[in-house]
Amino acid sequence: MNPKTKRRVVSGIQASGRLHIGNYIGAISLWADNQDQFENFLFVADLHALTVPEDVRPAELRSRVEDIFALYIACGIDPKRTTLFVQSEVPEHAELGWLLTCVTPVSWLERMTQYKAKGADKVSAGAGLLCYPALQAADIVLYDADVVPVGDDQLQHIEITREIARRFNALFGDTLTIPDQMIRSSGSRIMGLDQPTAKMSKSLAEQRPGHAIGLLDSSDAVRKAIMRAVTDSRPAVDFATDLAPGVDNLLVIYEALTGGDRATSATTFDGAGYGTLKKAVVEVVNDKLADIQARYAEITGDRRELTRLLDTGSEHARALAGNKLAQCRRATGLRR
Ligand code: ATP
Ligand code: MG
Repeated sequence: MNPKTKRRVVSGIQASGRLHIGNYIGAISLWADNQDQFENFLFVADLHALTVPEDVRPAELRSRVEDIFALYIACGIDPKRTTLFVQSEVPEHAELGWLLTCVTPVSWLERMTQYKAKGADKVSAGAGLLCYPALQAADIVLYDADVVPVGDDQLQHIEITREIARRFNALFGDTLTIPDQMIRSSGSRIMGLDQPTAKMSKSLAEQRPGHAIGLLDSSDAVRKAIMRAVTDSRPAVDFATDLAPGVDNLLVIYEALTGGDRATSATTFDGAGYGTLKKAVVEVVNDKLADIQARYAEITGDRRELTRLLDTGSEHARALAGNKLAQCRRATGLRR
């Protein structure tokens, strides 16, 4: 095991599109708020972005990886307290991914919701899309992670990571740490503004304007998207009845960004027209994005420093990853 100074947190975001407010609330803000409590490893998952190859545009992928890296920092991830890196620059992920693919029953992979949603019905679906959870398990166990902060859609992936790690340990001896998840009690599943019954997602945002609030969207685009968000035909927020999913979603976003809860929302918004609620949400979202975007402009304005941070993070990650991979190689009987 790699020596730890504190309990260790590992997580990542796929470079499959532009980051949205759901990624910020569900995952990034949770990491940012807990940096002192843990030893942190956060990465941009570019290998995972290749699992739907039809959607890959190489030049765009390359710049998107740097954008996400800079956005992590702009959202409050501190490269001094967190090892920030790019997955493909630590080749140990891919090698351990193979070792774990070999111990993962296909039947476990076939039942994954994400596989079913993104490709099970396509004849051309790549094997990478099916095997993705084994690579994700490698991402996590490579650093002996104790805790993985995620949004609620990733719980099934953390569960399969535990199963794969247990199976590896059962076959080859106790080598891998079994991780727990960390999840927000509210805000772990921000819904699409245009369809509040489906999770806000990067891939859908590429195809549907008005679906997501991008972290780099202009204040005008944010206002338009929120003012057009689907609610229901009632005129005002009534906390005594079941709230429409779209209204609940707006309140969850408001509460997450203001640190409030449902009781404070009820005091502020009971009886308010939907227009009033939406304007309040526009204001808190635009305030938050203005901070993030100002910091983002600073970071991307200094490319040399950004490259230095990318290099240092990957080097540090490699040192740990190399130790763990060596243990796994020994356990499985590979020569060195
Ligand atoms: P994709 O559509 O490509 O799968 P995504 O938006 O689902 O993109 P991921 O890279 O799969 O983003 O996930 C990154 C992190 O953000 C994960 O921890 C995930 O649980 C979290 N997350 C993603 N979408 C949401 C959401 N709508 N609400 C809260 N958390 C989310
Ligand atoms: Mg996803």
